[in-house]
Amino acid sequence: MRPIPTRARAFTAAAAVGVVAASGAVAVATSASAAAGCRVDYSVNQWNSGFTGNVTVTNLGDAISGGWRLTWAWPSGQTVTQAWSATVTQSGANVTATNPSWAGNLATNGTANFGFNGNHSGTNTAPTSFSLNGVVCNGSTGGSPSPSTSTSPSTSTSPSPSTSNPPPGNKVDNPYANARGYVNPEWKAKAESVAGGSRVSNNPTAVWIDRTAAIEGTEDSSSNGSMGVRDHLDAALAQGAGYIQFVIYNLPGRDCAALASNGELGPNDLPTYKTSYIDPIAAIQADPKYKALRIINIVEIDSLPNLVTNVAGQPGATAMCDTMKANGGYVQGIGYALQKLGAIGNVYNYVDAAHHGWIGWDSNFGPTADIMLEAARASGNVKNVHGFITNTANYSALRETFFTVGTNVNGTSVRQSKWVDWNQYVDELSFAQAFRTKLVSIGFDAGIGMLIDTSRNGWGGSARPTAASSSTNVDTFVNESRIDRRIHAGNWCNQAGAGLGERPTAAPAAGIDAYVWVKPPGESDGSSTLIPNDEGKGFDRMCDPTYTGNARNGNSMSGALSGAPISGAWFPAQFAQLMANAYPAL
Ligand code: BGC
Repeated sequence: MRPIPTRARAFTAAAAVGVVAASGAVAVATSASAAAGCRVDYSVNQWNSGFTGNVTVTNLGDAISGGWRLTWAWPSGQTVTQAWSATVTQSGANVTATNPSWAGNLATNGTANFGFNGNHSGTNTAPTSFSLNGVVCNGSTGGSPSPSTSTSPSTSTSPSPSTSNPPPGNKVDNPYANARGYVNPEWKAKAESVAGGSRVSNNPTAVWIDRTAAIEGTEDSSSNGSMGVRDHLDAALAQGAGYIQFVIYNLPGRDCAALASNGELGPNDLPTYKTSYIDPIAAIQADPKYKALRIINIVEIDSLPNLVTNVAGQPGATAMCDTMKANGGYVQGIGYALQKLGAIGNVYNYVDAAHHGWIGWDSNFGPTADIMLEAARASGNVKNVHGFITNTANYSALRETFFTVGTNVNGTSVRQSKWVDWNQYVDELSFAQAFRTKLVSIGFDAGIGMLIDTSRNGWGGSARPTAASSSTNVDTFVNESRIDRRIHAGNWCNQAGAGLGERPTAAPAAGIDAYVWVKPPGESDGSSTLIPNDEGKGFDRMCDPTYTGNARNGNSMSGALSGAPISGAWFPAQFAQLMANAYPAL
């Protein structure tokens, strides 16, 4: 049975409640020099006798280090059965949630988010009061004796002193600004192996850490060569680069709605993801040797949007996406990655936010933003997210030059055309800017910036329209005018006719931190026929040029090139075509 959402309740009542000083452990509340205060948002999804709870606690008082503890009493016989991102114990009606070992600090205005499953009988009445480290949460710093000592930002927000990187607050607004990008020598060599490749081979592309072995470097048929994370960082220093880009891509149950990029971890391998994958990457990135580099992480492509559009009740639902939604593996895995990597002063996290042809409809747009916030909160602080990226490894045009979403053709909106299909956005730039606004409106930092992957969305060459169509038929007008020449905007694999897009550029438009090449051009999206391999990569018919499609691409032809190797492997014919159809032209 599907959970029934109930309205979130925010515990911000102004009524002052006395400080419960139970023991010396609550010195934070009683000390003359510390202010304490908190706010709790508690919401549940419930069904017959079960429920899932989601709790976000915001520390309104002085920074807490060394652990936090949130307590409450359940008024109507609820019991907790399982929890994540906190340890939750229960004694009678009294419940105690304590921080996970990796997230014991709560900065002033910092948040901690955790969830649990439980049982209830009868009415599932929400608690009426919460306490943080023994202090009742009433939405203000109720116990604050002296603002001059209690709110000093110099002491209350200081991060763990053990790191020699600059504290998170010192991150630059746009890590791409005034900085040269790292050129991956392994991609450069592949690009130069194709005639004419040296025209573009000095562009920065991202390094995909697409399996645990890639941390140390591995020779296989994917995009990785023998260089590991440390080798790339050392090479970036040697190049005098200002920034380097990695893709964090190894979630449990990866690529739940497609087969081409299935990964090595099974759906229940969240602990392995944390300890064998994220922890070692974080340890390397935190090495003070790399302090001067801006290290940019693109976090987990496609995963969170899949939990919105490809779960039960949606036309594209898959069993694996349902599993990954139910077990919290994606949200908690991303939360953990954001927390560990975001804690490093010179590391910048950008979370993947799909593209307009996926979440541009109202029904997907808001829910996707919401799940981004859930994952960010699971990290303990939304500021662990520096921004978002759209169009990663996709082909959506940056700008539809000859029409906007507001264009009418003979009185009919382009939204009614088969191509636009009621989407609220017709191109990637308008979508990325609007999604940024949406994310800030729901609670992300106002300073977040967007990236757009322009590696393969150029659509130049002879098929590119040079003027708006003069047709008065809306479908003909859109089809003759559009820059994006795909058969359907849901097509994503090795698209025939695509070209290199805008070269990597910092701060190209309002709200956009950079145009980037995250998918290294010339690396396959998936094999066009079944190719057995030991990398977990499946065969997805969306990469087969003879495939006639499914609900997710309007039952259209796949538009994929033939002769493609498995995802990540070098596909020289595709690279040649991308150069031939580059826009701007080479
Ligand atoms: C593949 C990865 C590869 C990446 C970059 C993805 O589709 O699954 O193995 O590293 O593309 O080419």
